[in-house]
Amino acid sequence: MSKKHNFGAGPCILPQEVFEQASKAVLDFNGLSILEVSHRSQDFIDVMEEARENIKKALNVPAGYTVLYLQGGASLGFLMVAMNMMRGTKKAAYLNTGAWSKAAIKEAKIAGVAVTEVASSADKNFNYIPKGFTVGADFDYFHSTSNNTIFGTQLHDIPKVGIPHVCDMSSDFLSRPVNVADFDIIYAGAQKNLGPAGAAVYIVKEEILGKSTYGTIPSYLDLKVHHDKESMFNTPPVFSIYVSMLNLRHLMKNGGVEGMQKRNQAKASLLYSEIDSNPLFEGTTAKEDRSIMNATFVLKDAALEKEFNDMWKAAGIDGLKGHRDVGGYRASMYNALEIGSVQVLVDVMKEFAKKKA
Ligand SMILES: *Cc1c(COP(=O)(O)O)cnc(C)c1O
Repeated sequence: MSKKHNFGAGPCILPQEVFEQASKAVLDFNGLSILEVSHRSQDFIDVMEEARENIKKALNVPAGYTVLYLQGGASLGFLMVAMNMMRGTKKAAYLNTGAWSKAAIKEAKIAGVAVTEVASSADKNFNYIPKGFTVGADFDYFHSTSNNTIFGTQLHDIPKVGIPHVCDMSSDFLSRPVNVADFDIIYAGAQKNLGPAGAAVYIVKEEILGKSTYGTIPSYLDLKVHHDKESMFNTPPVFSIYVSMLNLRHLMKNGGVEGMQKRNQAKASLLYSEIDSNPLFEGTTAKEDRSIMNATFVLKDAALEKEFNDMWKAAGIDGLKGHRDVGGYRASMYNALEIGSVQVLVDVMKEFAKKKA
């Protein structure tokens, strides 16, 4: 059976070469299975080192930053970043661009942070990115979500706020270059663009470690503990890190994040131009804020959905259904999705329009 075109929002498609290498390592990783190897073995320590180093290379991470692979996904990150970034005022500024921003705010409040929403696009069901807002200097940190996986919007310009910036980059991590020096913490669940579910990556300015006024942070939630233990405080998600390392090798061989950005832009413009020119469809977000990772769109006549669904499924497409908060369709076009798969979708949309003309 041939492989489906995976437009799923996460866990996501990875390069075929990576799937093949990973499956080999399940059977033989230096005489053991990668699933049974000790995380304290030199073989795995080398994997962890390469996985951390390749993030630094891929994103040009400056000196003074540490890279960690932790568990709990970005969802635990919402709590951890708040606990670790709390300073004198225990106040933080959050940009609310959708469901994941709201989840981050909820956890920060649980940590005891007084959250101010400095801007929000809730008034239009998060179909745009608020701009032109200001952030006062009296906040401990500013938090943003670089790509809104559910709503299909993306921060194309990273706001400069003059206070420590913490960013959830889960769904566009490694899809484009970023200036790491602009951030105090970048965090991302692996399963959107990096590897299988189970790991989350943190890029942390070392200067911030051990400065929290939270009180005693539980050991696992303290980023300093993980940095001091070189990301091996407890048993790490070995398989997820191994496959992430393979994917990083693949990324470096294929033009790095600049190469990915070019491919991703080409895929996104192919799909968005069909959405805009096809009489049956329309996009759901402000054009200037459209995500190159997750494109959201609807059929103007919802009564046609069943027929369209049958067509794309028959073409071997998977994972196109929109999130329940938006409805319609969401095409997630993570790094590993080939432009040929986007062309298959575009062809189905064209064919459907012809049929209905
Ligand atoms: C998927 C996602 C999350 C949640 O990630 P988990 O790793 O499942 O906790 C958080 N933020 C964004 C932007 C996401 O896309």
